[in-house]
Amino acid sequence: VVEIRGLMKSFGDLDVLKGVDLDLYKGENLVVLGKSGSGKSVLIKIMVGLLKQDSGSMKVLGQEVSTLRTKALNELRLKIGFSFQNSALYDSMTVRENMEFPLVRNVKNLTRGEITRKIEELLDSVGLPQSINQMPSELSGGQKKRIGVARTLILNPEIMLYDEPTAGLDPITCMDINNLIVQVREQYNTSSIVITHDLTCAKATGDRMAVLLDGQFKAIGSFEEVFAHAEDERVKSFYDYNF
Ligand code: ATP
Ligand code: MG
Repeated sequence: VVEIRGLMKSFGDLDVLKGVDLDLYKGENLVVLGKSGSGKSVLIKIMVGLLKQDSGSMKVLGQEVSTLRTKALNELRLKIGFSFQNSALYDSMTVRENMEFPLVRNVKNLTRGEITRKIEELLDSVGLPQSINQMPSELSGGQKKRIGVARTLILNPEIMLYDEPTAGLDPITCMDINNLIVQVREQYNTSSIVITHDLTCAKATGDRMAVLLDGQFKAIGSFEEVFAHAEDERVKSFYDYNF
């Protein structure tokens, strides 16, 4: 569903992406690992058309993103669910209002009842069925993250992008979020990219791992392939620092 070939991106003298090749296959969870500043967020931004590459190709759901006009780009973005690092809920709105927001903006002709049913179903599937009338300030960090994921799912995205979904959470809550990411794939048939620094999260959620180093993916494969048989010292050290 995503096909990246020879992707290059520089900012002035800084070459961030230096010929990135990567595929996201339908129905898989792909984990992207890489040091801070290695270009993971830049890659995601090119994927959703917030940045343009200098050269190379970024195809999402069969379309070359950099050539899309505004309308086509907006339509594509509706098929991509973003889960931000800070769950980015609107603090002055209830959980219900937070979740309605993308629906009301983007999908016309749904009845009140249909909207409510959809919200209830999603809150149920992220394990927070009672939270519909709560304010974000009444929720814990992990709960906000779940609501963020539920809100992202409301437009039935084909692709989910999680940018550091477990950052700043305790180990138990991390496991909960990891399980949620795996469950979302199964329940909603999404293909996902999970950006993380947390190898426990990577192992729990990823069908494949891809390590971004020096502007290219140096190792792509299962957790064992990437780490047990790592040839690159820096891939190894990534593992050693985490365990
Ligand atoms: P982290 O793990 O800390 O989130 P990252 O891998 O997501 O890091 P990016 O945000 O992709 O890192 O940034 C990669 C590099 O590109 C950084 O050196 C950053 O300063 C630079 N960069 C990103 N966006 C811009 C921009 N709009 N203008 C100039 N430089 C940028
Ligand atoms: Mg980032």
